[in-house]
Amino acid sequence: MVGMSTFLRYGVGYRVVLDIFTLTFHELSEQLGSVYGKGPFHAKVLMREILKSGNVNWHNAPEFRQSQKLTRQLTMDLEIPIPEVSRCVSENSTIKFLCRFKDSLESESVIIPMQRHNTLCISSQIGCKMGCRFCETGNMGFKRHLSASEIVGQVFAARFILKKEIRNLVFMGMGEPFDNFEQVRQAIEVLSDQRGFDFAHRRITVSTAGLIEGITRLGKLNWPRINLALSLNAPNDEIRSYLMPVNKRYPMAELKKALISYPLRKKGLFLIEYVLINGLNDSETHARELAEFLAPLPVRLNLIPLNKTHGFPHDHTHDKDVHRFAAFLEDKGIYVIKRWSKGSSLSAGCGQLGSGASLNLP
Ligand code: SF4
Repeated sequence: MVGMSTFLRYGVGYRVVLDIFTLTFHELSEQLGSVYGKGPFHAKVLMREILKSGNVNWHNAPEFRQSQKLTRQLTMDLEIPIPEVSRCVSENSTIKFLCRFKDSLESESVIIPMQRHNTLCISSQIGCKMGCRFCETGNMGFKRHLSASEIVGQVFAARFILKKEIRNLVFMGMGEPFDNFEQVRQAIEVLSDQRGFDFAHRRITVSTAGLIEGITRLGKLNWPRINLALSLNAPNDEIRSYLMPVNKRYPMAELKKALISYPLRKKGLFLIEYVLINGLNDSETHARELAEFLAPLPVRLNLIPLNKTHGFPHDHTHDKDVHRFAAFLEDKGIYVIKRWSKGSSLSAGCGQLGSGASLNLP
């Protein structure tokens, strides 16, 4: 079960393993209580030292210097599973890095500089089952889910290994977050705790290809400030099913119903991502269909010219056509942002993660 400690065979007995990247404050407090007779006081210190300050020598904190027995036990039992940053490449302040886990598989994450802060794009799976045609991750197939600990590990690596101030988190890296719902939920619990990483919910965005059960489950968590993004990319079912096979399971009318019933906060917006592909989804007719689909929904529409990926035989929409497409939608009262992709030459742009083998060591 997510969030519980595990027990490892150790000599003739068993020992407890506390993974600091997996446990919420309450779970950690409970574990410290049931195993060592301690509780919230020491849980708070561990989260402050390790998750807030990146101090792996947590035992030097004054609170632990006064509890030598507990320190000895925790030195054995506490795990800080920092992933190895196996590769890292940067251009124009955009940084793509790979985290290698115990089984040697690697996730990809991207640090994207914004006007006043950095956004970290993290992965929830290695590979992806959704098979979107324009996406490098979709092309590589599915390897495995990431654990909550491995998701949190990417954030630790960005903050404390690469030493970047990260303000926003987006689940837009490798994988479909709702296909790994429990681990993503647990990771968000850990990442949003003020005693540790302290990412407010409004700074976290979960992006889905349109898994309706996931949208419904997120709505039921009563996390009104978490941002929900939908990777839409098409104005009708025919084009969407060609680009994103998941649409055959969850057609657009169903998706729209799920969004209409989603408990969006007052004045909240859905983020809709739309990758513009030359001649495929970028005509005026497409813009009109898209406007009709979006009409009842409060949205911010991000238009993103296609980034080149292997084996996808289409080109990006040209700049003047992006402006024309955007202007048509703005005329219909839709809030549009034109996002010129950052990091596409690093294969760090939208849909390009999964091509990590082409990276160079810094
Ligand atoms: S676009 Fe997202 S959901 Fe689709 S294959 Fe790529 S990672 Fe998976």
